[in-house]
Amino acid sequence: MNIKEKDNLYIANTYARFPLVLKEGKGSAVWDEDGKEYIDLGTGIAVNTFGFSDSEWVNAVTKQLNTLQHTSNLYFSEPCADLAEMLCSRTGMKKVFFSNSGAEANECAIKVARKYAAEKKGAEYNTIITLKNSFHGRTITTLAATGQDVFHKDFLPLTDGFIYCEANNCEELKRLVETNKIAAIMFETVQGEGGVLPLTDEFVKTIFEIAKANDILTIADEVQTGNGRTGKLYGYMNYGVKPDIFSTAKGLGGGLPLGATVLGEKVENVLNPGSHGSTFGGNPVACAGAVNILSRITDELLNEVAEKSQYIVEKLSNAKGVKSVSGKGFMLGIETEKDAGSVIAECQKNGVLVIKAKNKVRLLPALNIPMELLEKAIDVIIEACKEN
Ligand SMILES: *Cc1c(COP(=O)(O)O)cnc(C)c1O
Repeated sequence: MNIKEKDNLYIANTYARFPLVLKEGKGSAVWDEDGKEYIDLGTGIAVNTFGFSDSEWVNAVTKQLNTLQHTSNLYFSEPCADLAEMLCSRTGMKKVFFSNSGAEANECAIKVARKYAAEKKGAEYNTIITLKNSFHGRTITTLAATGQDVFHKDFLPLTDGFIYCEANNCEELKRLVETNKIAAIMFETVQGEGGVLPLTDEFVKTIFEIAKANDILTIADEVQTGNGRTGKLYGYMNYGVKPDIFSTAKGLGGGLPLGATVLGEKVENVLNPGSHGSTFGGNPVACAGAVNILSRITDELLNEVAEKSQYIVEKLSNAKGVKSVSGKGFMLGIETEKDAGSVIAECQKNGVLVIKAKNKVRLLPALNIPMELLEKAIDVIIEACKEN
């Protein structure tokens, strides 16, 4: 049996995989089982922050792996303390809870919001507003938070207490807050899975004004937008606001599973011993890698991301067959005249890996992609978008 046959036989049938077996990668280059080379603009869905098998990250991870691989949270260990300090000092937040995925990071954010609101305002203040077209994860509760019926339909009943507001609709948000007992408003600053759609400045401003006036918590889901992806360290920083809670995962670990729920002043003491936990959370190997990743997301790098992003947007906006380009930084969605799936397949054929978001072609390049590779890849995408 070859790899594809074995996978089809033994792995639960949840993924529509591309017809490629990836075997080896270095930076933004990756090779399939036949030795064909690709330029990768997908980074394993915004996970490989510095590309494949980045040497500095590999060194940090293997050093820790050769020292101590796991402690459980019954003991103290250095890498998770260092990473928590780094996250707080770079954001002005106060405390961190570590987990292993985006869904888990969001679960923690939701638990914190419910507990805060119950203690402060009363148990009936348990409703969380999320946005239509959002994506927050695949557990029963984060599915409930996800404002897309297609993800819900086979898994009812979901966790109670979520209502949905149209993104960028300030009037609807005001109405929902007036007519419900709200604990928190949760949002992605750029909806990733929903089609790479940024929130407007006005809407984000309104969220924070309403939240402040009503003692409602703000939760930024930075699972995809975080860790430099949008050209700022966290996506909310594009808007000059600071949430009470943010969750992150994907790019934080640079390729190892790691989630973090980062808590601001208002909620820093909401969790107490026994109220939450995770066996693998804060794993030393994942955290040692993340310390390396985060320490390299400097202002200088972020400026480069912003400049390269501008290059991509300009080139693609003027390309034939491209209707629009949305997103921020290195999180971009291309609306194409041709079907996105066929553009992606054409790119693959010509040695460039891009992914999909709804009906768009999504680009999530490594933050350190060399300009030369980026230029080559964009030329391939432009060619693939043309009608033929
Ligand atoms: C990917 C994603 C999640 C879920 O993360 P997992 O690690 O797959 O659980 C949650 N929120 C957003 C915004 C995401 O992009």
